Amino acid sequence: MKYFSTRNRKINFNFEEIFQRGLAPDGGLFLPYIIKKFNKTHLKKLKKFSYVDLTTEIVSNFCEPEFNKNKLKALIKKSYKKFKKKEVVSLVDVGEHKLLELYHGPTLAFKDIAMQCIGNMYEELNVKEDRTTNIVVATSGDTGAAAISALSNRKNINLFVLHPHNKISKIQRKIMTTIGGRNIYNIAVKGSFDDCQNIVKEMFADDIFRQTINMSGVNSINWARIIFQIVYYFYSYLKLGSKKVNYIVPTGNFGDIYAGYVAKKMGLPIEKLVVATNENDILKRVINTGIYKPLKVRASLSPSMDIQVSSNFERLLFHVLNSDTKVKKMMTGLKINGYFKLDKKIIKKIKKDFLAFKTTNQETKKTIKEIYNKYQMFVDPHTATGFNSATKFKNSYPKVILGTAHPYKFLETMKLATGKILKKPSQLNQISRSKEKFDILDNNTNLIKKYILDKQYEN
Ligand SMILES: *Cc1c(COP(=O)(O)O)cnc(C)c1O
Repeated sequence: MKYFSTRNRKINFNFEEIFQRGLAPDGGLFLPYIIKKFNKTHLKKLKKFSYVDLTTEIVSNFCEPEFNKNKLKALIKKSYKKFKKKEVVSLVDVGEHKLLELYHGPTLAFKDIAMQCIGNMYEELNVKEDRTTNIVVATSGDTGAAAISALSNRKNINLFVLHPHNKISKIQRKIMTTIGGRNIYNIAVKGSFDDCQNIVKEMFADDIFRQTINMSGVNSINWARIIFQIVYYFYSYLKLGSKKVNYIVPTGNFGDIYAGYVAKKMGLPIEKLVVATNENDILKRVINTGIYKPLKVRASLSPSMDIQVSSNFERLLFHVLNSDTKVKKMMTGLKINGYFKLDKKIIKKIKKDFLAFKTTNQETKKTIKEIYNKYQMFVDPHTATGFNSATKFKNSYPKVILGTAHPYKFLETMKLATGKILKKPSQLNQISRSKEKFDILDNNTNLIKKYILDKQYEN
């Protein structure tokens, strides 16, 4: 498969290149030239597939010839061994709604589903090379842990994880800073997630630095993340057996919900994709008014969604504008003016597929409590924004809410909302005994570059 940048359709890249780079050289995001469409007969056939086979069938469309179906299947099978559920995810009834639990992996958030496979893909691609890849990733709490679990102690790889200091939950931090091997470096940046992401983007834009450290990235802007996330939309749709389905997705960087949009493009009969945001509601604002304007990040009860620069939105922008020059113009406008504005026709196009609701901290707590009282069930604060959005969204087709993290990761908030202390899931048996390892650094790109340059040769 060949890929191009949302800001320049003319230069093309193969899968290995876009996998290693993450971000296009011009700052755009990569998109494939072709998105395969499954017809009804083909969809029916997929019903009998196991999760591993379904993943192989979907993902192989995007990464041949580097990964053919045989090679891919073995890799996927190996990647999902550590999951608590045989079928990786599980779809459960919660009252009138369906909850798609995506958090049965080793670090208890949906990020594991793509990241475990990505870790093995690195190893495959790196075997041919004798030099070290330095992966730098920004995290709002869950990506970092998933990446560490997937890449710890792998040969030829160093991983640098930037998280916003004191702005993630205690358990999120503990997982991240205790499970890593010798090749893992945790950096607590004195700033927000947007600052962390910005530092990583600046590093990618610096060609000399990027080449010096042989830099790579695994943020949700990496297309490889998206393709593994398409699968659970297919899986849950096929399980439900309804004609059409709505998906409600707790959203920050627009990665997970964008995977749903690609699933729809691939022929999945999705009625609406519902963006559930917390008080950082840039996506709700742009979908309803056309104005994309990042404001200051506010700390909320759902920290993994405390994001104002929703990077993957650029991909949707390309689809609805259908023009690389127009995307480039918008992104330049954003850089110069601090915002861009979409016209009515484009907003209408977006609203055909998307809808957005905001959930306040108050509503998040109330929702967690209500679900506990009604069903004796715990949902984490991110998933709670999904449940809250579901009550605001009227539609006759089934609503599948994506359960993005295990509630234990947000122990304090769960106690605040329900008065209960959750039992520790077995995946975390190790963490409380280990010593945390991280360095606190200023929000300064040059300083963090220097840190990485110094550390890369330690191993
Ligand atoms: C990352 C994350 C999200 C947001 O996902 P995006 O792909 O950035 O939209 C939501 N909930 C949890 C628990 C997460 O870790």
